[in-house]
Amino acid sequence: MECIFCNIATGKSEAEILFEDENVAAFLDIQPVNYGHTLVVPKKHYDNFLTVPKDELEKLINITQFIAGAVKRSMNADGFNVISNNGDSAGQTVYHFHFHIIPRFTTDFDFKPNFKTYGTGAMREYADQIRTFISKYRNIYDGG
Ligand code: 5GP
Ligand code: ZN
Repeated sequence: MECIFCNIATGKSEAEILFEDENVAAFLDIQPVNYGHTLVVPKKHYDNFLTVPKDELEKLINITQFIAGAVKRSMNADGFNVISNNGDSAGQTVYHFHFHIIPRFTTDFDFKPNFKTYGTGAMREYADQIRTFISKYRNIYDGG
């Protein structure tokens, strides 16, 4: 299946590449939230955050940190968001994993959802649900 980010990573499609090495490419998002909005992708195709191998993710996050600093300083931004959308409901439109680096300015826009409040005991219940999963699968993280 055709993947636009695979094509950009291999040079088949054009993009404003900011940085690349053998594993990672960083380029400008074609439809920026703010100017300088950058995407950082592994050159190999992985659908989402959960399917990127740990060693690849380590390289990706290190480069994302470096590029985020460069974007912030060169755009004279006040801050930045590093985000990754995973799944349709989260707004993912390109199913080749990527981090967004979005330079932010104090007066640009609000990114605020409608916050929920936990009812009595609910916070513990949600935490228990997640903890159950974590303890069941912890050996995967530990490499066991
Ligand atoms: P997602 O919605 O999957 O988190 O983000 C995908 C991003 O890729 C969007 O912000 C979109 O503007 C960007 N994008 C989609 N197609 C292209 C393209 O052909 N070139 C570039 N540079 N960015 C793209
Ligand atoms: Zn791809």
